[in-house]
Amino acid sequence: MAQALVLEKKGELSLREIALPTGIGPDDVRIAIHTVGICGSDVHYYTHGAIGPFVVREPMVLGHEASGTVTEVGQNVRSLKVGDRVCMEPGIPDPQSRSSLLGQYNVDPAVRFWATPPVHGCLTPSVVHPAAFTFKLPDNVSFAEGAMVEPLAVGVHAAVKAALKPGDVCLVTGCGPIGIMTALAALASGAGQVFITDLAPAKLAIAGQYDGVTPVNVRETKVRDVIDTACGADWGVDVVFEASGFSGAYDDALACVRPGGTIVFVGMPVQKVPFDIVAAQAKEIRMETVFRYANVYERAIRLISAGKIDLKPLVSETFSFDQGISAFERAAEARPDDVKLQIVL
Ligand code: ZN
Repeated sequence: MAQALVLEKKGELSLREIALPTGIGPDDVRIAIHTVGICGSDVHYYTHGAIGPFVVREPMVLGHEASGTVTEVGQNVRSLKVGDRVCMEPGIPDPQSRSSLLGQYNVDPAVRFWATPPVHGCLTPSVVHPAAFTFKLPDNVSFAEGAMVEPLAVGVHAAVKAALKPGDVCLVTGCGPIGIMTALAALASGAGQVFITDLAPAKLAIAGQYDGVTPVNVRETKVRDVIDTACGADWGVDVVFEASGFSGAYDDALACVRPGGTIVFVGMPVQKVPFDIVAAQAKEIRMETVFRYANVYERAIRLISAGKIDLKPLVSETFSFDQGISAFERAAEARPDDVKLQIVL
């Protein structure tokens, strides 16, 4: 039995003992969890009990954005040793699946992802995880930053999918944690200028702290007017990253992308949204989608370690494990100036 932060059912959390598997396989490592970030998905399971087809039917340990220290290694593991500081990629695919063989293991239908029902998450003092999905943190990357590699990986994956070129002008629609991290990943990947939109001044102010990021409050300004000034009235941005999932953002994305440009769909709308196919065809734009990430953890860690991405301003508050339930209540409040809340075990 282990102590864990358990979602009993929609709206009900407890910090209690729960039986979790403890066996370590030859290719696994055991990790003492240090820091776990609270993700929008964790909060959504808490407040709604489901995300799309994934429904919480029995008690589930939450958390999937984690860093920690290796405490035991399986007999085949050569890449890590006891005492290594690490972060973990939370989705484990079937290595023999056709998706995995294609390198797109993130879309393997059999992937087991922490805190996606019925798979338990990592808000518990110790976990066992495959070494292949456990990444050593350089000394200059903190546990707090290590626990943010997971959401940053979404942004890095989006930048990879965009195939950014040096000096590209980008627009990110939506200034949540993923939108901000996507903007930072785009800049670190060579973007020359990144505009980011939102309705909440507090969120835009946080994004605007970063050199190269220009916040646009779409309650006050039409984003297309800003792009007219930056790129010319008959042109647009090279890449739009849609990171809001808000139905109105898709028209903005189509209006702001340049002919022959790219839209990367990062945000996930809760319901089906209308999308103007002809507008996309008339500019012959390239469209890419992302689902989580694949093959980018080491890249994301290197960008943090090299100082090309500074995640430290995005940690809004840190809670102890004992305060875990209050941390989730705070996250459910969705304060506009909270970017990332973290729990330290
Ligand atoms: Zn997450």
